Amino acid sequence: MMMIKEVVRDACEEGGYALRRRNSSLGVNECTTTETTKGGRGEGSSSYGVSLEEQILILSTSSSEIKFDVDDFLRRLVHEVKEYARPPTSNFHVGAACLTNRGNIFLGVNVEVEKCALNRSVHAEQCMITNAMVGIRNAELEEYRRKEKMKGGKKTKEEREKERRKEHERNNNNNNNNESNEEEEKEKIVKIAITHAPCGHCRQFMNELRDAKDIQILLPGMAAMRLEELLPKAFGPLDLEVPGDEEHREERIKRRKSEGSDAIVVDEEKVHVRTLLLDGCPPNPRDRDGLGTMEKFCKLLREALEDGRIRFGQFSFGNLEEEERIFAAMEELAHTMAHSYAPYTDSPCAIAIPLEYQRSLEERWKTGDKRSGMRFYFGASVECAAYNPSMTPMHAMQVALHCTPFRPSSYKKSSPEYGHIGTRPLFWSQRRCPISIYVFGFRDAKISYAETLKKEFEDIARRNDTDYAPQFIVKEILFDRHMFSVEDPQDVIVREYERIRSMFVEVLDWYSL
Ligand SMILES: [Zn+2]
Repeated sequence: MMMIKEVVRDACEEGGYALRRRNSSLGVNECTTTETTKGGRGEGSSSYGVSLEEQILILSTSSSEIKFDVDDFLRRLVHEVKEYARPPTSNFHVGAACLTNRGNIFLGVNVEVEKCALNRSVHAEQCMITNAMVGIRNAELEEYRRKEKMKGGKKTKEEREKERRKEHERNNNNNNNNESNEEEEKEKIVKIAITHAPCGHCRQFMNELRDAKDIQILLPGMAAMRLEELLPKAFGPLDLEVPGDEEHREERIKRRKSEGSDAIVVDEEKVHVRTLLLDGCPPNPRDRDGLGTMEKFCKLLREALEDGRIRFGQFSFGNLEEEERIFAAMEELAHTMAHSYAPYTDSPCAIAIPLEYQRSLEERWKTGDKRSGMRFYFGASVECAAYNPSMTPMHAMQVALHCTPFRPSSYKKSSPEYGHIGTRPLFWSQRRCPISIYVFGFRDAKISYAETLKKEFEDIARRNDTDYAPQFIVKEILFDRHMFSVEDPQDVIVREYERIRSMFVEVLDWYSL
């Protein structure tokens, strides 16, 4: 019988801090009710479709009748997860886990950076939400790539044009008519377990989530409660004037008048709130087309590759594998930006950095390659109505480096689980060459993260007490909103690809030698 410890170890070491639901016959809706804390689960062994059937066995007793209590499971889970935290400053381990309406579980721990100011810390709840976003984003990207692959076959420009126009029409119709249907299908968090009472900052941060007030919070020694009970009379997305958000504006004005107060309590009345995490694209009411730009960019890029307008091998490298890696990184960065959450500043942003990582024994055996490999790591901004609990792309990068199954070879955690207590800095130069930071953003964004990113990275890297602090080069790649449309001339996408690609190229020089 698998022990819960082992399940958590596998998830944290190899699963990217996630327990994925296995394909199950369960529909999405079976998991959406948040009021079924007790009962309603006994019949099946996996009423919430929890990813590993083995997990259920952990909780089952020797009796043949398996009663799986998902709340109990989450509570036990976080107790083990906290061992995988990285708290060199506080030495205070926090674990968090959330269950989504689709039966996926995402984990989080606190991630601190040694010798850096406390605002560099990522709380367990933020880490967990970031992991959920990444998990959902990657699942979408995989699905998208799979579909594109299945379509297969080269198509003529005319055929493409036809398809695009059709799709354009379909999207327009969806935007107008099917919004509510679409929303029902989105993945959202329904339960959150934490090892400690969440701090005020995290309560505020969690308040950004879709249907936040109804999320069940499970804390040690306490009955399940709703987030609304932990954060009564909350300040939230509804309180801010978000331009373009006219429907909410009216709602706000009405409420302010009736309550004679600036604070708005979201009551039972159904309010259509669009500013929510995990909403995918486009979560941003101000910027539906702007973020759509990045999705279009990905799509057009892939099309251009398929119909031969972009040809791997025509550039200086001529190495197909490397061209594909650049292409994949660009695509993922664009996708990451499209799923950043920036309703308050209208400044969606995503970053990527290439780092060496140590190949696992299995990977070495499979590929026959003993050298370390190179990977891109991604992070996107996540905003909060109260501003300061917001996460910058740098915070998200800390989560990405800590929670990836492909940890950079320079990275160590502080946990007895790893047989050592010390941590290394998040970054140091594994080779004596600068590390590139790729930043995707919009030209007219209010916030320019590129300005601060270089300083942040250097600040963190300087903590290295070994030999060499790396240099960082920021490569900011800005897009015009609404740049790509179905009416764009065909060569726009090719030109754009070449512009961006030229910024990516030199990385391969350093890593592929
Ligand atoms: Zn917190």
